[in-house]
Amino acid sequence: MPPSHLYVHVPFCARRCSYCDFSIAVRSRTPVDEYTNALRTELAFGAVDGSTLDTVYLGGGTPSRLGGVGVANVLSAIRERAQIASNAEVTIEANPDDVNDISVAQWLAAGVNRISLGAQSFDDTVLEWMHRTHDSSQIGRAVKAIRRGGIENVSLDLIFALPAHLNRNWKKDVQRALELTPSHVSLYGLTVEAHTPIARWADRGAIVEGSETQYEEEFLYAHEAMYAAGFDHYEVSNFSLPAKASRHNSAYWTGAPYAGVGPSAHSFDGAVRRWNVAAYAEWVRRLSNSEPTIGGEETLTDENRGVEEEYLGLRTRRGLEVGGSELSVTELWETAGWGELDKPQTVAHNGHESVFPRLRLTPTGWLRLDSLAADLAARRSNRATAALSATPSHCYI
Ligand code: SF4
Repeated sequence: MPPSHLYVHVPFCARRCSYCDFSIAVRSRTPVDEYTNALRTELAFGAVDGSTLDTVYLGGGTPSRLGGVGVANVLSAIRERAQIASNAEVTIEANPDDVNDISVAQWLAAGVNRISLGAQSFDDTVLEWMHRTHDSSQIGRAVKAIRRGGIENVSLDLIFALPAHLNRNWKKDVQRALELTPSHVSLYGLTVEAHTPIARWADRGAIVEGSETQYEEEFLYAHEAMYAAGFDHYEVSNFSLPAKASRHNSAYWTGAPYAGVGPSAHSFDGAVRRWNVAAYAEWVRRLSNSEPTIGGEETLTDENRGVEEEYLGLRTRRGLEVGGSELSVTELWETAGWGELDKPQTVAHNGHESVFPRLRLTPTGWLRLDSLAADLAARRSNRATAALSATPSHCYI
């Protein structure tokens, strides 16, 4: 089946943010025509031929650096190869300083109906420390321009757990975000990634990362404040008003196939995950010679898929079916306040019916997501190995 979801990586940024290790191309002038021509060539390899796209997501980098016309040209290039469904979710990531009445009108006319705005903080000292290209007043102006232009679906990104010396007032930032009445909020805890400016600052002792206690307190505060404002905490890092969960990201979290184009973009056909070369110049060079852009691929084994399914289930409110000896440990997690076990549900598998309860992690459990997922995966892989020789009546993976 042709994929219903398309990710387009737009790598351009005006400068590198101090915490960012994404695959980007820093450019003072965005090479819109060069990029769009290369993208058209890549799409001609057939990634979405025959598709009716339910979601299109322009991520980056900073897709809004393409401007109104550039985004319209990208969406036209996609429409030359695929249908975009009339009710599709079409998202672009934007920085506040790229948003104005003209760009919003052009994005809307091109079919964009959702904007994910990189706010990060409402504190100008913090924004400067992050090397952001905007100040706090531009965030509010951008949201007003988006709404005035007729795009209702606005998501805000915020970063928490910043170094203590910045004296960032997290509660105030969450409240400022809520005052802008977004339909969706994404939160990211700051991590010091290698080869970033903040990694160099940390190496020479100029910054100290936020403590685990601060991380936990800020994450839980955001959960309570968003919940009180009517948001569903539907994934470890994401909150939405009713019916406003990101359809594109939700497709990733349910293991659906997707296509990806642009430098470093990933694709998944249900069995094999492929990714493009990351460097923009190399991606353009290959396409100008009509060469494939694939930089690598991996075929998922049954075990890989099982582990991914567990991890994806645990990071979302969808949760995960648990059974057998897992029940004793997940009951302990429930007692600790890390998870909730829903009513048992009947699951058909290989001609057998089994009754499993569903485990959903709580926000406190999400703070331990990696270790709980690893614990569960280890238990399942031991049991799977034993089950192979014991010819089970059912299996868990
Ligand atoms: S705007 Fe986004 S992608 Fe670009 S440098 Fe900043 S964090 Fe990275």
